[in-house]
Amino acid sequence: MATGAELLRNIKEQIKEVDPREVHDQLQSGNGTRPVLVDVREQHEFEDGHIPGAVHVPRGHLETRIEGAVSDRGKPVVLYCTSGNRSAFAADTLQRALGYEDVASMTGGITLWKDRGFEVDVPRALSAEQRSRYSRHVLLPEIGIAGQLKLLDAKVLLLGAGGLGSPTALYLAAAGVGKLGLVDDDVVDVSNLQRQVIHTTDRVGVAKVDSAEESIKALNPDVEVEKFNLRLDASNIMDIIDGYDVIVDGVDNFPTRYLLNDATVRTKTPVVSASILGFDGQLSVFAPHDGPCYRCLYPTPPPAELAPSCGANGVLGVLPGTMGLLQATEVIKLIAGAGEPLIGRLLLYDALAATTTELKVRRDPECPICSRDPDSISEEEMGVFPDYEAFCAGAG
Ligand SMILES: [Zn+2]
Repeated sequence: MATGAELLRNIKEQIKEVDPREVHDQLQSGNGTRPVLVDVREQHEFEDGHIPGAVHVPRGHLETRIEGAVSDRGKPVVLYCTSGNRSAFAADTLQRALGYEDVASMTGGITLWKDRGFEVDVPRALSAEQRSRYSRHVLLPEIGIAGQLKLLDAKVLLLGAGGLGSPTALYLAAAGVGKLGLVDDDVVDVSNLQRQVIHTTDRVGVAKVDSAEESIKALNPDVEVEKFNLRLDASNIMDIIDGYDVIVDGVDNFPTRYLLNDATVRTKTPVVSASILGFDGQLSVFAPHDGPCYRCLYPTPPPAELAPSCGANGVLGVLPGTMGLLQATEVIKLIAGAGEPLIGRLLLYDALAATTTELKVRRDPECPICSRDPDSISEEEMGVFPDYEAFCAGAG
C-alpha cells in the first residue's frame, strides 16, 4: 500500500504541471490557447483571495460540477490550490476519470503565484454572523454571496409604514437590505393592527416610523433605518428619494403616486408599486425608460371610487401581506439582478377567487413625462393632478 506522499509523487508523474509564470502569460494572451483557470480549494479559501478570472470548483465537488464550469473536454484547463498538491489530485481525476484532454496543475499553487508578484482578487466577504444569518440566500445560485453583498449595500425607500409597508419592511430587513428609509406621518391606531403587522398593541399612539424602526432593529440590528415623519409632497420629494436605489410605493392616494412617478422618472429610480382594495391587489414595477411609467398605465386617474384614500374602505387584513411580500420579492430581484422583474406587466390578484391575471403594459410614446428627456422635467410639472377634493367628491 502506497503512503500519501508516494501516491502524490506517482500522480505528479502522470500529470502536467505548469509554473505560475507560464499560467500568467497564458492568461494574458488573447488567443485561443487561453486556459480555463479553476480554483479547487474550499469556499472560505476562495473567499479569502483568488486569482482574477478563476472559476471556483471545490475539489470535493469536482466530479459533479466541473462540466458546469468547463463543458468542452478539449479546452485547456489549469487547476490550482494553495500549494499544488490538491490540484495535482484533481488534475488526475479530470484527465483519467473524466476524459479532459488538456489538464495541468499549477506548481506551488496560489502561494507561489503570490510570491511571483502576481495579482490576487480579495473579494469582500460576509462576516461569520452574516454567513450564518443569510446562509439560505447564499445557497441559492441566483443570489449567492455576490447577491447578498448587493442586498447589504442596497438602499430602499418605503413610502408608507402601513399595510403594504409593514410586511415589505420586515422581509427586506430580514433579507439584509442595508438601509431602509421609511416615510409616514401617521401614528399607530388600533384599527391598523388587523394588517399592519410591523406595529404592536403596546405601540398604539406611537409614530409609525418609530414603531416600525423598533421592529426592524429587533429583527436585524444591521439594518440602518432613516425615518421621515412627514407627508411626501412636491417640496420635499426630490431630497427624500435622493440616494435610494429602489422605491417601494405603498401610498394610498393617487396624487402622491403621480408625484412619485414624475420624480422617479427624473431620477431614473425604479419603483415597485402595489395597491389594494377589498379583496383585490395590483402590482407592477415601473423602471423609468426601461418600461412604462405610472402615467403610461394610468394617463388619467382611475375612477375616484377606487381611490382608497378618499375614505375608509374595507380590506382583507391578509391582502396587504400578500401584495407587500410580492413587492419585497421584486425589490430583492431588482437588487440581486435575479429573474424577470415585473416591468411592463401588471399583476392582478383576486383573493376571493384565488386567481392572478397578468396584463401587458406598454410605454406610451406620447407619455407627458417618460417620453421626454428626464432633465427637461421641471419642478412645476411634477405631480400635476386634478383638484383632489373635487376628485374625491366624485366618489360620492
Ligand atoms: Zn410614461
